Amino acid sequence: MTENRTEISELGEFGLISRINDKNIIRNKSTIKAIGDDAAVIDCGSQVQVVSTDFLVEGVHFDLTYTPLKHLGFKCIAVNVSDIAAMNAIPEQVTVSIAVSNRVSVEAIDELYEGIKSACEAYNVDLVGGDTTTSTSGLIISVTAIGKGDKDSITYRNTAKTDQVICVTGDLGGAYIGLQLLEREKSVFMADSTMQPQLDKFPYPVQRLLKPDARMDIIHELKELGVKPTSMIDVSDGLASEIMHLCTQSKIGAKIFDEQLPIDDEVKMAALDLNLDPTTAALNGGEDYELLFTVTQEDFEKIKKMPDILPIGITTKKEDGVLIVTPSGRAYQLEAQGWKHF
Ligand code: ADP
Ligand code: MG
Repeated sequence: MTENRTEISELGEFGLISRINDKNIIRNKSTIKAIGDDAAVIDCGSQVQVVSTDFLVEGVHFDLTYTPLKHLGFKCIAVNVSDIAAMNAIPEQVTVSIAVSNRVSVEAIDELYEGIKSACEAYNVDLVGGDTTTSTSGLIISVTAIGKGDKDSITYRNTAKTDQVICVTGDLGGAYIGLQLLEREKSVFMADSTMQPQLDKFPYPVQRLLKPDARMDIIHELKELGVKPTSMIDVSDGLASEIMHLCTQSKIGAKIFDEQLPIDDEVKMAALDLNLDPTTAALNGGEDYELLFTVTQEDFEKIKKMPDILPIGITTKKEDGVLIVTPSGRAYQLEAQGWKHF
């Protein structure tokens, strides 16, 4: 008897999701968008509901040796709100499920929920449920966020067209550099426990990793200016990976200008200190939770003065590929590395 066994690493995360989605029959008319975007979209009359869910797993997504529980609580809400923002919708409710081992005290759970509640306040959402169970290994948190929007204001990944402006909010690569700083200090501490962590030099990247902010501010500003992106995604796996998602799903190409990538000065300095390339961090580092979107050239005129939105490229025809152009004018194919958990 031959045993059929394929390693998950052969498919990767996206390959696995696409396999799960294979023969996934949608039976209800109310299911407007199923698997494949930042959130599912459900018809509920004049408006739609958007739903997104994410895991945070100890040892995979966070390390409790340097992650304050209060920040972790804030982050698990923020990353889900970010997916609702990526749909151009307004978050209203969250459910939070936790699996905890006996290593975790009641006081620790209090701290986690202090962060969760502070994020609920910051994003104006209600904690409406969840589940609590035990874990034989680490702490596992699963959050589901539910949001609302007008049917025609929802932004998808597959609706960008050619000759549109590709924009990104905030700055990129910070969370990845923050992670490298924390990992470096952790290994120094593990080798010699009398050593104190040296993180004061670069507080910004560390904060980017530990306490990310979902860009609901941008969603409200775009709405006020009457601008609807033609496509949108949040940057959770790294810019390159997200650009590939937009291009593949919209069946277009893109040209990204290397020198336009927004990278904070402190992040650049920390990258230098770590012997890492800031551009690589911006393209392939994850967890920045900024928004990547496309707008028509006409709409770009309305937003180009907004301080936290930067044009980084232009959409092209599919045949032209997804390119990154260096200041000297050399173009090379963009490769999405993203996070590889498997
Ligand atoms: P994001 O990075 O925006 O959170 P993901 O890459 O995690 O999105 O997921 C992409 C799509 O695949 C989403 O629509 C998500 O709901 C869906 N998805 C991910 N894992 C599963 C799963 N195990 N079963 C069904 N759908 C899944
Ligand atoms: Mg997302």
